[in-house]
This record gives sequence, C-alpha cells and structure tokens, in this order.
Amino acid sequence: MPKTAIITGSTSGIGLGLAQAFAANGYNLVFNGLEKNGAEIAAGVAQEHGVDTFFSPANMLDPEQVREMVAQAETRFGQVDVLINNAGVQHVAPIDEFPEAKWDLIIGVNLSSAFHTSKAVWPGMKKRGFGRIINIASVHGIRASEYKAAYVAAKHGIIGLTKVLALEGAPLGITCNAICPGYVRTPLVEGQIEDQARSHGMSEEEVVGKVMLKKQAVKDFVPIELLGEMALLLASGGANTLTGTTQVIDGGWTAQ
Ligand code: NAD
Repeated sequence: MPKTAIITGSTSGIGLGLAQAFAANGYNLVFNGLEKNGAEIAAGVAQEHGVDTFFSPANMLDPEQVREMVAQAETRFGQVDVLINNAGVQHVAPIDEFPEAKWDLIIGVNLSSAFHTSKAVWPGMKKRGFGRIINIASVHGIRASEYKAAYVAAKHGIIGLTKVLALEGAPLGITCNAICPGYVRTPLVEGQIEDQARSHGMSEEEVVGKVMLKKQAVKDFVPIELLGEMALLLASGGANTLTGTTQVIDGGWTAQ
C-alpha cells in the first residue's frame, strides 16, 4: 500500500520541493498552504508522478481546521504515515519596533501549528505502531540572529517539541526529527532580503553577500533537493532509531 504524507505549507518553496520528492517516491500527499492555486498544484504533482493527492486550505492558525485536514487525509488514504511540519512565516524588525501581531502570527504558524498537527495525527500513528514526524526548523533553531525575535524563539521551541515527541513516540514506533536548513532561496527568503535591506540600510545584493550568507562557510543557498533527500531518509521505515535529532544542513554555519 502506498504511504501517505501530509506536508504543511507545501504550495510554495521548501514544502513544494519536499512534496515533489515524496511524490517521486510514490507517496500519496496532502498539500496545504495559503496559495490560491493549491488545488492546481496538487493535481499537477499527482499527474506528473502517478500518485493520489488533494489540497487542504486549512489555516495552520486554526486547530479545528488542522484536525479536519488530518481527518480528511485518514478518510481518503486510510492512514497518515508521515507528517512534515513546514508551514512558516517570517518578520524581521528590531525588538522595540517588532509588532505584537507579528509575534503572535509567527509563534502560531511556526510553532503552535506543529503541536496541533502532531496531536491530530498521533492517535492513528499510535494505533498502527508507525509514524514519522519531521519538523522543518532552521539553523535559527540553534543559533540567533538580530531582528528575528519571534522566528528564533519559535524555531528554538520546535526543536524542544521535536525532542519531547521523540521520547513519547519511542515506545510507539513514532519518530520525530527536525531539519535545520541554512538559507534556501524561496519566496520567504526573498521577503527577508527586502526587510533586511531596510533594517540594515543596505542594498539587496549587499544583504545576500554580507548578511545572509556571511554566516555560512559555504557561500551557496541550500538546495531544496538536498532537504528532500534528508526528509525521505527520516521518513523511511528503516529509520526507527533515528529520532529526536536535529539534522543541520547549514553550509557550515554552526561549525564555527
Ligand atoms: P515559503 O514562504 O515559500 O512557504 C511557506 C508556506 O507556508 C507557504 O505555502 C504558505 O502558504 C504556508 N503558510 C504560511 N502561513 C500559513 C498558515 N497560516 N496556514 C497554512 N499555511 C501557511 O517559505 P519557505 O522558505 O519554503 O519556508 C518553509 C519552511 O522552511 C518554514 O518553516 C521556514 O521557516 C523554514 N526555513 C526556511 C529557510 C529558507 O532559507 N527559506 C531556512 C530555514 C528554514
């Protein structure tokens, strides 16, 4: 029977890349995100790879919509084997100018949603004795950068959640790991380049060279395909002892 994965925020950027990698490996998929063309994206990937997909517009800020998305997946595919918590937003500003609403939004989407999705898939995974939860954290889950109070707090938080779920899942056949990428060139990062340019008073080219990739020893953006390979390994049946970890793919950022 084909395996099923839910990938939140999969109608753009890293999530979409992960979805393509999982579809290419025969997974049926639940697409999710705020992009208006989500249903078309899901149908296109299904056709390209000969798998079954559907699009859920569930807003990750609403636990009820999260539960409905998981219930729809279980009804359509019979089970959810893999959950990838990827949806994320960013806002960059000095602490004294950081809008309260942006703090709440970032904690809600980047951290609390992973609690709600994991809680919703847990009973099914527990019943079948198999589950793989993968949290797309960030190098900002283990290192800080100025002007990113909410993002760094949320990403540190999701690494804590990863460890707790790994411990609770261990006797149940459920693993939980985090992937911590350095910079990946996606729409989220394009937005940050503009914000950082404003905060630092620099041109966008200067921000890429002097601020963003400054901390990476390898001066390249992390390829989405590499994140796909890592996620497929973490999702695999043989990876049952690989749990509670942070898989850092950061171009040597944290080696320093
Ligand atoms: P992106 O903006 O391209 O994609 C984010 C996705 O999340 C979109 O599909 C968006 O619709 C969805 N989303 C946002 N709010 C949502 C909500 N309330 N409900 C449902 N979906 C929602 O960004 P990306 O760069 O692909 O980021 C994906 C993840 O990777 C994020 O968690 C981000 O923090 C993390 N990450 C990104 C980078 C990077 O350099 N791009 C580095 C490390 C970690």
